[in-house]
Amino acid sequence: DNELPRPIESLYAALAETAALRKSLPVRQAVVHWFKMDLRLHDNRSLWLASQKAKDAGVPLICLYVLSPEDLEAHLRAPIRVDFMLRTLEVLKRDLEELGIPLWVETVEKRKEVPNGIRELMKGWGASHLFCAMEYEVDELRREAKLVRLLAEGEGDEKMVAEVVHDTCVVMPGALKSGSGGQYAVYSPWFRAWIKHVEENPECLEIYEKPGPNPPGIKEKYGHLFTCSIPEAPEGKRLRDDEKIRYHALWPAGEHEALKRLDKFCDEDIGKYAERRDIPAKQGTSNLSVHFASGTLSARMAIRTARDRNNTKRLNGGNEGIQRWMSEVAWREFYKHVLVHWPYVCMNKPFKPTYSNIEWSYNLDHFHAWTSGRTGFPIIDAAMRQVLATGYMHNRLRMIVASFLAKDLLVDWRMGERYFMEHLIDGDFASNNGGWGFAASVGVDPQPYFRVFNPLLQSEKFDPEGEYIKKWVEELRDLKGGKGGEVHDPYGRGSEEVKRKLEKRGYPRGIVEHSGARERALEAYKRGLARD
Ligand code: FAD
Repeated sequence: DNELPRPIESLYAALAETAALRKSLPVRQAVVHWFKMDLRLHDNRSLWLASQKAKDAGVPLICLYVLSPEDLEAHLRAPIRVDFMLRTLEVLKRDLEELGIPLWVETVEKRKEVPNGIRELMKGWGASHLFCAMEYEVDELRREAKLVRLLAEGEGDEKMVAEVVHDTCVVMPGALKSGSGGQYAVYSPWFRAWIKHVEENPECLEIYEKPGPNPPGIKEKYGHLFTCSIPEAPEGKRLRDDEKIRYHALWPAGEHEALKRLDKFCDEDIGKYAERRDIPAKQGTSNLSVHFASGTLSARMAIRTARDRNNTKRLNGGNEGIQRWMSEVAWREFYKHVLVHWPYVCMNKPFKPTYSNIEWSYNLDHFHAWTSGRTGFPIIDAAMRQVLATGYMHNRLRMIVASFLAKDLLVDWRMGERYFMEHLIDGDFASNNGGWGFAASVGVDPQPYFRVFNPLLQSEKFDPEGEYIKKWVEELRDLKGGKGGEVHDPYGRGSEEVKRKLEKRGYPRGIVEHSGARERALEAYKRGLARD
């Protein structure tokens, strides 16, 4: 356990300090729901609570989104992710308008001014109550603690309240305790406890209805709020026109797309998930991560839909593919629980302090060869080119390329973690940090440091015919696949003629030799750990 106070505790303290006011404050002219990473109408707990509050008081519901360019920068949001979020807001605005609910998008340049910006808007609207979902990143928890206290300040009619509610996980962080009363740092026992908790508390999978329509006549008072348009992406976060065309076709935005994709996956593919999930050339996974990351799909809805397709109607047992998929969705949640309990893991620190002594390399030639897909290791290059072309990478490959950067190249894993956030459409702080911690053996429940992925063996095992490699590495398209095939190791296995051809095409030779690099990594880890 770490010594730092947990930011979630300061938010809980702020909520406790304002509990009496939250209970007693009468609703004034409107209730506000603040959208953050919960960009959906269906199964949105905070939105549902806000709409019930407004309905009971007979006042309108107003929806708000705050765009802070400084925040997007600080969170390393990839332009492709920002674009997806803005397109999703368009969908949300249209859907809300049909219910007579306005969506107001406010741009607040500096992140620390967000709480005050919200307060001023609420004052102008005559709103007394704000609802929003809790986000578990450190800055967000601190910001919301400040907001809760700020809204409660003032006298009489100046007082407002904020309800910050759990919504992003099926089981809220802190609810699962190990035998010794602490937080689980290992996934398997955590997952067993998660299943038990969900089965014993069926309300965990209760789906919240979308809000009903606003009372008629809202436009007389709040008509100007319907004129708000969705802004352009801020400077530095804009896509080029050609990228927009490509990405919009690849990643249709909004919750309708998420629900369609979830249903299609559960109808057609989930049953075969266990066999196909590790083969990147096959479309064996759900591709739903972008929707989980933006909140266009709730984890509750995903788990419930999958569970209902299972012939046991339970989380445990039944179809292997369904069980496996639910356990993967739960990994996302595990890392959020970890983030809440050990916030320092997402502040550039390894989980175990002993891992702070490893001497990382900052060789930029190596790093750039990795980012541009020019390492000379076909499976690595294919994966890194996939992320550049699509903003996405298959899970097996995320593990392989992360291991390669941290172990074969000994490059500081935090450089890779950052690069992923800056390029992924599904960039999620907790899952990304967890994935890098696993692969570099510095996180919670990591793979042991002496396990180093062999890119060649991984390539032969998970892309035997080289189908995936050939899709992304044009220079290798006419090489032979199969076991022992040259496509996996072109300069090692190719004939002289093949090698000449590849040189002409400019495909690089391996930037390191794997077995030597592995030995070097093991020495560096051993040295680092011995220094403690
Ligand atoms: P599916 O296989 O269909 O899984 C369903 C859902 O379960 C996913 O959408 C995701 O929400 C969750 N999930 C699956 N595997 C994991 C996992 N290992 N950890 C956490 N959640 C998981 N996922 C992100 O959403 N954002 C990230 O920034 C991210 N960075 C990663 C970095 C590394 C180094 C590694 C090894 C993994 C990372 N992952 C991340 C996890 C995983 O690779 C992706 O969630 C998955 O590839 C998304 O594809 P899918 O939706 O088709 O997944």
